[in-house]
Amino acid sequence: MEKKTALITGAASGIGLACAKKMAAEGYAVVVADINVAAAEAAAQELRTAGYEAMAVVMDVADEQQVEAGFEAMMAAYGRCDVVMSNAGVQIVHPFDEYPLEDWRKMMAIHADGAFLVARAAFRRMKASGRGGHIVFTGSVQSFIGSKLKAPYNFAKHGVAGLAKSLAREGAPYGIYTYNLAPSFIKTPLVAKQIPEQAADLGISEEEVVRNLMLRDTVDGEFTTVEDVANALYYVSQDKGALTGQSLRLTHGWAMM
Ligand code: NAD
Repeated sequence: MEKKTALITGAASGIGLACAKKMAAEGYAVVVADINVAAAEAAAQELRTAGYEAMAVVMDVADEQQVEAGFEAMMAAYGRCDVVMSNAGVQIVHPFDEYPLEDWRKMMAIHADGAFLVARAAFRRMKASGRGGHIVFTGSVQSFIGSKLKAPYNFAKHGVAGLAKSLAREGAPYGIYTYNLAPSFIKTPLVAKQIPEQAADLGISEEEVVRNLMLRDTVDGEFTTVEDVANALYYVSQDKGALTGQSLRLTHGWAMM
């Protein structure tokens, strides 16, 4: 029997890598899609060495041709498009009044154009197959709250929560279900980079950034983990529509509704 597939963008690192490992372990053929080709190849090789089915594709999610080519490579190899996670992301922090337009556009290209292009590529193939599928966005606690220095990130992460709702309506007739997984801070390379940057921008220590900014509004002062998100991805990928359009808040109580 053909294996179901899981294509995950930004899967060479952090949350995406953990999600790739989880889906592989659950029996999916995994497509590691990342702009970092060497890291994507290494991640796919690690999965294959562990006995799983996996391939790497080079994909800048902001580039329409690369997104379509990556999906075509998956279809050629595995013939199916079942679970797609639009996860690739970066963070660029600046005070709002100093935010360069160039950086705003970079954030929009990756987070907004990227979510659109990846979700559209998935939707087209899930609709054409007649089998439907699951489209999952990596949102954030920043889909629901506002944070200093992160205006474009807030803008885009609120946006993917809305995109999940919209696609839930358009996708339902075709068995296409959509979700926004919304974690609070997780210790990945993306966050490790922000700690010294925010400390410098705000004139506080790195320890204060973690305690007073990143974890202050959780109920227990705990980081979320990449495994929390990976488990949520697998959970929603088994959903038959009860949860479609929803955001799942993995925020240690920071954003409860
Ligand atoms: P990470 O830096 O560990 O991994 C991001 C991956 O995305 C990298 O492999 C990178 O090469 C890839 N990437 C970057 N730009 C790309 C592009 N244009 N096209 C394709 N791939 C690209 O980061 P992470 O923490 O795992 O973040 C993954 C997602 O989770 C992001 O959307 C981020 O906004 C979101 N998120 C992270 C946290 C957190 O605390 N780490 C919390 C909430 C949401």
